[in-house]
Amino acid sequence: MAEINPRAREHAAIREGVREACAPFDSAYWQQVERESGYPDAFVQALTRGGWLAALIPEAYGGGGLTLTEASVILEEVNRAGANSGACHAQMYTMGTVLRHGSDAQKTKYLPAIAAGALRLQSFAVTEPTTGTDTTRLRTTAVRQGDRYVVNGQKVWISRVQHSDLMLLLARTTPLEQVTKRTHGLSVFLVDLRDATARGMRVRPIENMVNHETNELFFENFEVPAENLIGEEGQGFRYILDGMNAERILIAAECIGDGFWFIDRARTYASERVVFDRPIGQNQGIQFPIAQAYANVRAADLMRYEGAGLFDAGQPCGAEANMAKLLAADASWQAANVCLQTHGGFGFAAEYDIERKFRETRLYQVAPISTNLILSYLGEHVLDMPRSF
Ligand SMILES: Cc1cc2nc3c(=O)[nH]c(=O)nc-3n(C[C@H](O)[C@H](O)[C@H](O)COP(=O)(O)OP(=O)(O)OC[C@H]3O[C@@H](n4cnc5c(N)ncnc54)[C@H](O)[C@@H]3O)c2cc1C
Repeated sequence: MAEINPRAREHAAIREGVREACAPFDSAYWQQVERESGYPDAFVQALTRGGWLAALIPEAYGGGGLTLTEASVILEEVNRAGANSGACHAQMYTMGTVLRHGSDAQKTKYLPAIAAGALRLQSFAVTEPTTGTDTTRLRTTAVRQGDRYVVNGQKVWISRVQHSDLMLLLARTTPLEQVTKRTHGLSVFLVDLRDATARGMRVRPIENMVNHETNELFFENFEVPAENLIGEEGQGFRYILDGMNAERILIAAECIGDGFWFIDRARTYASERVVFDRPIGQNQGIQFPIAQAYANVRAADLMRYEGAGLFDAGQPCGAEANMAKLLAADASWQAANVCLQTHGGFGFAAEYDIERKFRETRLYQVAPISTNLILSYLGEHVLDMPRSF
């Protein structure tokens, strides 16, 4: 069958390498992981061994030294192979906060080990149950006491904690009432998870719609060495924002990968499934929604490349990164619906993988940033309309 994305020929070596790495992890593998509600350890190890998750770490620290565009192609191909980047994508970009804002000592200590896969830094604790998206009001505090900070508070939806050695934690170091701007007074810490549960951090896994390891965290007088503060105390919100554009572009690429996967499955099935003595894809009621979904994925793909190109050129890319995430998440969700509908009842059978990918791609409308929050960013910061909150 014809290639459905002409741009797939770009970055051919990366695409081929990632496809090869993903090939052993077939439909049966993912179904078994799903049945066991397990973590796809062998798959994550294969990507780590291939150096794919170290793509964005500079070569000087043992990483791949690739651009964000190239990194986005890696995650696109992972999702396009039917796999789920969500199991490990944060290993690729969470280290960006250490790379951009960490001290030389922190970079030398952590980045080579992360690049080699000896350390996993793939947890990132921002969201809280009471304050949700209103990040600057978060209530977890970190109070300096001598050579350490003492953390108290609660986080929710913190992913991959049980499969990570390190975690970035955003906490308030100066009370909200004492800062001039609410974005001030937040700080980022690198938390060692390996002995954390013995030192005052409690983990409660959250059962959820996708097979995604995510948790509630409770901190009670949990101590973090002061040397694990990243950058300057009180500047953490800015550091977190810095990483968000990269994250949004990478997530957009995952959605694009999902979108092409759904369209490929839909067009193949529509061409092969015969009902009323004709392939169902001969009916325009089946064919047109697939064609429309394809056009939408291709359009979102352009915005993903625009955002990634600007990021790689060191240009402002907030608007494009947000639009790429918005459009790609919408396009993959539309493609998911079309694919499911095209398969009729078989779309609901686990062995076709469609219902799993359908649930997985739905998440991108909500996490890591929900659609409404992107629209409000565009309305206020790009279109200069009145601030709504
Ligand atoms: C599976 C999963 C994994 C996750 N992993 C992580 C993780 O690793 N680390 C982490 O920190 N977080 C993580 N999250 C949290 C995720 O980033 C948040 O769920 C998401 O940002 C939305 O926040 P919330 O759930 O608190 O929604 P809320 O802030 O409570 O908002 C609820 C709904 O209301 C809308 N809304 C809120 N305010 C407004 C407004 N003013 N105008 C219009 N609409 C509004 C939102 O868009 C949303 O649709 C994860 C979430 C899930 C489901």
